[in-house]
Amino acid sequence: MTDRRFNLVGAGLEEIEALVAELKEPRYRARQIYAGIYQRRWRSWDEFTDLSKPLRQALDERFVIEYPAVHRSFTSQDGTRRYLFDVPPGHRVEAVFIPEGKRDTFCISTQVGCAVACLFCVTGRLPMRRNLTAGEIIGQVLALQADRSTLSKRLNVVIMGMGEPLDNYDNTMKALRLMSDPRGLSISPRRITLSTSGVVPGLERLAREPVIPNLAISLNATTDAVRDLLIPINKKWNIATLVEACRKFPLERRRRITFEYVLIEGINDSAEDARRLVALVTGLKKKVNLIPLNADPWVPLRPPSEECIAAFQNILIDHKITAIVRRPRGDDVSAACGMLAGREQAHGDSSHPPPRPARATALARLHAQTLAITPIIRPERAPSAR
Ligand code: SAH
Ligand code: SF4
Repeated sequence: MTDRRFNLVGAGLEEIEALVAELKEPRYRARQIYAGIYQRRWRSWDEFTDLSKPLRQALDERFVIEYPAVHRSFTSQDGTRRYLFDVPPGHRVEAVFIPEGKRDTFCISTQVGCAVACLFCVTGRLPMRRNLTAGEIIGQVLALQADRSTLSKRLNVVIMGMGEPLDNYDNTMKALRLMSDPRGLSISPRRITLSTSGVVPGLERLAREPVIPNLAISLNATTDAVRDLLIPINKKWNIATLVEACRKFPLERRRRITFEYVLIEGINDSAEDARRLVALVTGLKKKVNLIPLNADPWVPLRPPSEECIAAFQNILIDHKITAIVRRPRGDDVSAACGMLAGREQAHGDSSHPPPRPARATALARLHAQTLAITPIIRPERAPSAR
């Protein structure tokens, strides 16, 4: 028989207070339950020794504390771990644990698939199935915490896994509030980064929230013609509109917007692109993460050469922009940026064959656009162009 008990993972304090009131228990019990779930990360009512036995029994009859079920995990040679979670009805989502020196990073998902359908992203090749619930989003953090060997290292959370978080606004924001609540998991919003492909109305809403995470913008192109083809929502909210929303975004002292820029050979990697990028972000408090494209059979594009990446980076540095080249983590287990698709094998499996290869027409248009826009300088031919 299926368990019909209500899962409390994802419930806020007010919701737990309402449930406790139904049980005719005093209100402070809700705080104890809330702290047990999110702060102490208890998963069985037996662990709630601060509650009476009859109450624990009453809770057990109605409620469970369940994280998304780990279907499998894959550990990379570099220590990065990719987790495949089962979520109903029969879907898979992924989260990634990335150990780095003094800190650990969790990369979590917000949707099964992604409707934005970027040309270079494996998640974007999947059909969009559904939004994850707040419980499924925060549940990934709890599940990874439970599997973490040391809790002494600092923890960062990046909302950069499968899905467009601002297309699942309410659930993502609820999970974010639960994550950062000092009475719960207590992860400072300064240690949480939300990455978006540029859903401008979502950005405007986010700017008005009481709890605001760090913001990362997946810019990835410097002309609308190329960005339209790489990130189709650019036709709705173009580069100028997106950059304007970034200019209006409230930034606390010492905070900066991260611009992510996936470098794709022959598409967005020219010296002209680098100069246009400089011009676009001028006057903003920012840093730029350059991400050489992670290649995958599902994505018919390639990363640029090392010389080209260095030339692009140098142009930004010469203009006093902090620009870091992000090297893939866990690419041997398909855990790197843009690779998450719920696949059992590194590059696909029988239940997840490549579903939607990029259309040849889109690629032909992309190359035509690029040639039309950046005819002159390729960094390898013009190393002095910086
Ligand atoms: N949907 C959100 C967050 C998830 S994607 C967004 O697009 O921002 C996380 C990051 O992975 C984005 O910056 C995206 O540009 C990058 N990415 C996607 N596919 C990639 C690939 N094949 N290689 C490198 N980075 C990729
Ligand atoms: Fe969606 Fe982000 Fe992938 Fe684009 S890059 S398809 S927005 S997950």
